[in-house]
Amino acid sequence: MPLQSQQTPTYSVELFPPKTPEGMEKLKHEIAELNSVSPSYVSVTYGAGGSTRDRTFETVDWLRGHHIETAPHIACVGSARTEIREILGRYREQGIRRLVALRGDLPSGMGGGTGGDFRYANELVTFIRDEFGDTFKIEVAAYPEYHPQSGSPERDLANFKRKVEAGADAAITQYFYNPDAYFAFVESCDRVGVTLPIIPGIMPITNYTQLARFSDACGAEIPRWVRRRLEAYGDDVESLRAFGHEVVLKLCRRLIDGGAPGLHFYTMNQSGPTLRLWQDLALPRPA
Ligand code: FAD
Repeated sequence: MPLQSQQTPTYSVELFPPKTPEGMEKLKHEIAELNSVSPSYVSVTYGAGGSTRDRTFETVDWLRGHHIETAPHIACVGSARTEIREILGRYREQGIRRLVALRGDLPSGMGGGTGGDFRYANELVTFIRDEFGDTFKIEVAAYPEYHPQSGSPERDLANFKRKVEAGADAAITQYFYNPDAYFAFVESCDRVGVTLPIIPGIMPITNYTQLARFSDACGAEIPRWVRRRLEAYGDDVESLRAFGHEVVLKLCRRLIDGGAPGLHFYTMNQSGPTLRLWQDLALPRPA
């Protein structure tokens, strides 16, 4: 595969904004734990259509207030240009210099994704570059197992290329458990001249029911042998987590050994599973 490891690798973590003040208090504790390993940055998700807007702001403000490198997500579907401009202007003033730019999926009941001024993430990336120049480093989403709505792998790749050419600096993938899907995707990108860093998104395995639900929705495959083992653990959470840790640890090792330019952890607001992986992989720690 084309080696991407010439770049300085980034090891980042992702959070979502909690719904309640209690959740926010708990998250602060988890952030302190995660920050002990000095991730390259902490990203904070954003609900399409502005559904988490204020909570995303609150989480981003807290991180910035604690001098933690922060990358807010921004999802464009269902939003007007004026709204996106206002949010990005706020981030620019706060000194934010990195964004994860997405189309997003509108929650059901919010119009099916057709409202607003943007249809696809490439339009958002173009808008950010037109209005904000090089203020932000822009990460976009990539799908080694292909986006669930894509007509064909070829079209999905062409759409990804369009988004990259609109001005993305790097991509973060949807999670996956088959490293070959990642390596094949990077190779396909290389063949069409897309050579930006593609950082694997890593989902620790801690809860089978939740993982199965997410995976169905986002088109990430849980290999049959993994699924069968996870199902068989039932309520035995400890054994499930130990097995999940080994599966994801091996995945990460293969990715790093194969030249992946970093890892992005979907922490689900729990520091423990990510920190265990971090430690067992001996990822960079603060000096
Ligand atoms: P796009 O790149 O626009 O692609 C969406 C679909 O449209 C694909 O099938 C693509 O092939 C097709 N397509 C793209 N461009 C065109 C075009 N010009 N013409 C025709 N078809 C096109 N969701 C949130 O709501 N909030 C978040 O914070 C969030 N964070 C995420 C972080 C990461 C790292 C990832 C991988 C996903 C995240 N998501 C988030 C989920 C994401 O919003 C969904 O997967 C969404 O369905 C697609 O977003 P996208 O930016 O990849 O869209």
